[in-house]
Amino acid sequence: MKNLSDIGVIKEILSRHGFNFSKSLGQNFLINPSVCPRMAEECGADGNTGVIEIGPGIGVLTAELAKVAGKVVSVELDSKLLPVLEETIGDFDNVKIINGDVLKIDLHRLVAEEFPGMKVVVCANLPYYITSPIIMYLLESRLPVESITVMVQKEAAQRLCAQVGSRQSGAVTVAVNYYAEAEKLFDVSRGSFMPAPNVDSAVIRLTVRKEPPVSVSDEAGFFRMVRASFGQRRKTAPNSISAGMGIEKSRVAAALEEIGYPLTVRAESLNMDELAELFEAIKRQL
Ligand code: SAM
Repeated sequence: MKNLSDIGVIKEILSRHGFNFSKSLGQNFLINPSVCPRMAEECGADGNTGVIEIGPGIGVLTAELAKVAGKVVSVELDSKLLPVLEETIGDFDNVKIINGDVLKIDLHRLVAEEFPGMKVVVCANLPYYITSPIIMYLLESRLPVESITVMVQKEAAQRLCAQVGSRQSGAVTVAVNYYAEAEKLFDVSRGSFMPAPNVDSAVIRLTVRKEPPVSVSDEAGFFRMVRASFGQRRKTAPNSISAGMGIEKSRVAAALEEIGYPLTVRAESLNMDELAELFEAIKRQL
């Protein structure tokens, strides 16, 4: 089996297949040999686990996942990588490659058809241009997976794993926390990739919750309020929520008064329970 994190091996295979890296598809391939075995271990896959991988590239992580998991299904958008993957991981009989856009394929169907009766996890080195859309798609569609272990930009890792109610938190922090418990596992330097990106990376794990940490009467409305609250970070909650949701400021102010918060409060200082409480109070004012 070829060493798929060796720069010389990667260059030789890719040039033989006439492959050129596409920046717009977020193609930065791992060349640090210690990262993929660690990701494969941290994602918790065993012989009875089905793994969904997004963006296998030349298959460096795919190969490590195939060694520990029962089955791996990898979704790759770039059809030019298919003959490369056939050469690099074609010998594994527990790997299937699907050519498509992960945001467009029916992942619920994929899980039902490919992994019946198996525990399912996601493990991937994500294309950075669509990190949040992919994570939110997996969580919001309530894909039946136990965890999502992914490499993302370091800055995105900080935001995704921030405490709700801390300065680093944003709308995406609240959304991710609603569906999962997020933790940062380890940092990965930019030099671990070919070509090297301009930023460092980190591997995070989202352990999907069985129940949300708060109960809200209207999920879509709650997330509309959360997005509005963080939409204009410098503004106080009444200003940003009234502007973002098209509600009179006096009603948001009355809601805050009802639950005993000052009108100067900022959304980023509210924890999950407080955001849910504020949402229900605003609903009562409408
Ligand atoms: N897993 C490989 C590695 O670690 O070296 C490659 C990771 S690279 C950061 C991201 C991969 O995602 C690329 O192979 C790219 O072609 C693929 N990709 C980009 N957009 C995609 C999409 N919408 N659906 C599926 N794969 C995508």
